[in-house]
Amino acid sequence: YLQSKPKSETIELREKYIGGACQLFFRSTPLKIVRGIAQFMYDETGERYLDCINNVAHVGHCHPHVVEAGRNQMSLISTNNRYLHDDIVILAERLVKTMPGSLSVCFFVNSGSEANDLALRLARVHTKKKDVITLDHAYHGHLTSMIDVSPYKLNLPGGPEKPEWVHVAPVPDVYRGKYTYPNDSQSEEELGKLYADEVGKICKLATDKNGGVCAFIAESLQSCGGQIFPPDGYLKRAFEYVREAGGVCIADEVQVGFGRVGTHMWAFETQDVIPDIVTMGKPMGNGHPVAAVITTPEIARSFADTGVEYFNTYGGNPVSCAIANAVLDVIEEENLLERARRVGDHLLARCEALMHKHLLVGDVRGRGLFVGVELVTDRDARTPATAEAKHVVNRMREEKILISRDGPDANVLKFKPPMVFSTQDADRLVDTLDRVLSELDDQWRTPITNIKLEVLVTPINDQVESSDTSMKSSFKQSVKAM
Ligand code: PMP
Repeated sequence: YLQSKPKSETIELREKYIGGACQLFFRSTPLKIVRGIAQFMYDETGERYLDCINNVAHVGHCHPHVVEAGRNQMSLISTNNRYLHDDIVILAERLVKTMPGSLSVCFFVNSGSEANDLALRLARVHTKKKDVITLDHAYHGHLTSMIDVSPYKLNLPGGPEKPEWVHVAPVPDVYRGKYTYPNDSQSEEELGKLYADEVGKICKLATDKNGGVCAFIAESLQSCGGQIFPPDGYLKRAFEYVREAGGVCIADEVQVGFGRVGTHMWAFETQDVIPDIVTMGKPMGNGHPVAAVITTPEIARSFADTGVEYFNTYGGNPVSCAIANAVLDVIEEENLLERARRVGDHLLARCEALMHKHLLVGDVRGRGLFVGVELVTDRDARTPATAEAKHVVNRMREEKILISRDGPDANVLKFKPPMVFSTQDADRLVDTLDRVLSELDDQWRTPITNIKLEVLVTPINDQVESSDTSMKSSFKQSVKAM
């Protein structure tokens, strides 16, 4: 009954009843997805798509062990965590075992936004300060409190303005950011220092003005900003500045956690730091809404000492916890970190080879199954190839491969597939991308100009991802065109 409507009727009903602001991929010709298995998704006609972007379906769409765990627990009891239950304590213990230092107290919530909101609340209570440092282009969630610290959504035409207590530090992007390789330095550590010193400057300002800093919140690797890998030493030095100013450091692992980087369970470990608060979500439930905050006993005590009890109706319910435990089982049993490392290395090497072949490929960066390919129309000037990136995403969809693009100029192709992705999948992805880029090479002059013109006249809500990033970039381009 639910999936038997003709697609045209589904579109009509969605337009009628679902808020127009809600994102829809490929808005002018959306996909109707009715089924998923491992790294594949199927539309209503049975057409199969290789999913290269769904980092939520971490252990593979509809993994039988996860489905069974959810089904079994739903048939027993689903209630709130004001009653004792084994799954929540087992899950907490398992997660804490993956954490370094004294990160050992868990709070369970339902989404990444809720996790970051609670992290901020903990930071406020613990530090009794207000100023928050975030990174440019960051996204930390859709709640009002999170939009405030998400430059990805701030200061857009018609959007909310940045509050005065929020400070935006430059994103440590060594390709396109404030300090780049090799212009500002040939040394990664020096670049890390330059970027961290920007955080230091903000700490000083906030200390002079308001007596210190409440928190520094950052993704350990910035995904929404365009698959950004901070230079070595960046987080370490930034954390030192923040702590000196009395603040706590929040690592948002909502996208990049649970082993995606292959070498470690948590992406912050690649920077050799220990945050004060870690937030996680998306992959944790493989599609089921479950998320968490893990912090130190000191911060948890400050929260408890307020005397205001914390209650979250669904956070940590037995079904969510059974599912999250099953996800951890699969990560361990199927050795998915090792797989992410092996397949990720192969994917990265193959993407790097594209750079030697196609001038459009300006930069390739990645770690594990978290890879970005930045397209540029001029390598020296690093001019973002926004229209070309849009074209590539659409062409890949025609080839039944789903990828997305991101970054402030929406010119970074993003790959963050389910962790069951194979080397054959990586080969198919790169072979097809190679072909699509070759088509663009063949038509380098005139058609690319046409594509650019098309992006200027494309209505904002018809951009592929229909995200605010695309809006921002279309807006910028229209302004330039005028
Ligand atoms: N943090 C990051 C880094 C995210 O990418 C997202 C979602 N895209 C969130 C937080 C918010 O998570 P949710 O959509 O589950 O609320």
